[in-house]
Amino acid sequence: MTNIKKPASTSLLEKAHTHMPLGVADSYRYWGEDNTVFVKSMKGCQISDSDDQVFVDFRLAYGPIILGYRDNRVDEQVIRCISERGTISGFSTDLDSEVVSLIKSLCPNIEKMRFANSGTEAVIGAVRTARGFTGRNKVVVVEGGFHGLYDEMMWKSDVDNWDSNTQEKPEIIPFGAGIPESTREHQESVPLNDFAAIDDVFARLGDDIAAIVIEPIMGNCGSIAATQEYMQKLRDICDQHGAMLIMDEVKTGFRVAKGGVQELYGIKADLTTYAKAMGNGYPVAAFGGRGDVMDKISFDKGGVTHGGTYTANMIALSAAKATLTVLKETDALATINKVGADIQQVLSRVFDKFGIEHRFAGPDSMFGVHFGNEVPQNYRDWKKTDSELYTRFAFNLIANGVMLEPDSREPWFICEAHKDMDLNWLEEVANKAMEQALK
Ligand code: PLP
Repeated sequence: MTNIKKPASTSLLEKAHTHMPLGVADSYRYWGEDNTVFVKSMKGCQISDSDDQVFVDFRLAYGPIILGYRDNRVDEQVIRCISERGTISGFSTDLDSEVVSLIKSLCPNIEKMRFANSGTEAVIGAVRTARGFTGRNKVVVVEGGFHGLYDEMMWKSDVDNWDSNTQEKPEIIPFGAGIPESTREHQESVPLNDFAAIDDVFARLGDDIAAIVIEPIMGNCGSIAATQEYMQKLRDICDQHGAMLIMDEVKTGFRVAKGGVQELYGIKADLTTYAKAMGNGYPVAAFGGRGDVMDKISFDKGGVTHGGTYTANMIALSAAKATLTVLKETDALATINKVGADIQQVLSRVFDKFGIEHRFAGPDSMFGVHFGNEVPQNYRDWKKTDSELYTRFAFNLIANGVMLEPDSREPWFICEAHKDMDLNWLEEVANKAMEQALK
């Protein structure tokens, strides 16, 4: 495999090992001693690393960048807010309702909302509210999904070590150490698009299930999408059993459509989480949905607790206001979709040239690339794709100036600033990268 080792990054990583586990501030940024990237600056659709190599970036910080890095339309509003008003006071501001109104105008399923600082926190808020409303604890998640670093959501089906010949179902295991065993009993996990599995869980546990938490388009599993019928099934089964349908739109919200996946499917969640694209890179998140469910957040006996020192801080909300206003009032998302479709055509030409069977999954603004002859329907299908070839291809792209996550479970993210990129250059680089990957 091509290694992307560079002098400045290598020495920064060596130094950082003295200060931080793995030498990084977030474990997912550690790509090994030879490949860990240190970034100096970003602008538009590009990032420059510490060795001054410039990359066209399709990773976009795992999705938040929707307009482009350092977009003036957002940054100027944030700077103005900081210099003229401040950052936090621990009190409410006019921005709170202004941003919720903007979100409600884009996402009609939202009746009431609360803010958070990260996707993880939004999921914590939504799950707690669902539990408070239903008086139940169990949460059903989907294999291959990810809902942030919240202990209660950090259990998964061990499909990777599952022997389908001898075991009926994969074991449910924690993401890692430090997750209390006591949180296991609250979680069930099912394969996406599997009707029998969801029927089985509700037949066994229906009256104990507080919520299904799902990314209908799996931003953490190559943009594999739930079918329309499957989403309707989830809506119906939740209604039959009094459970909440929580759509985790941390990656899809304000990206796949102005109204997120719920606009695409026309199916209403009881609660929804948002983060990433809503702030074009500023840390802001929110959760909300049905008014009667959200009103469970209160000081009454039996009320749900929610808050936080930095919640709805003015940096976050001025960024959200500016970003959402641009997304609402301009054709940014249409531009993003067009660029995403063009890029898939470029990649398709390259893969065809080398005789590589491939399928794209998900919407043009965040599409997955899968080497195989069928669009995967869930994580189990994804495991049958040639993800090793993808990783080799991705590292060769990176070595040649195209940044992306070298794991095909992470989609290609497109931002508005990609509209000016040179598709011929991308095709040349992709040709070279695939040629090297097949050697
Ligand atoms: N939910 C989904 C669907 C995500 O993709 C992520 C992060 O990638 C999270 C929640 C957690 O968000 P954060 O990293 O902002 O805590």
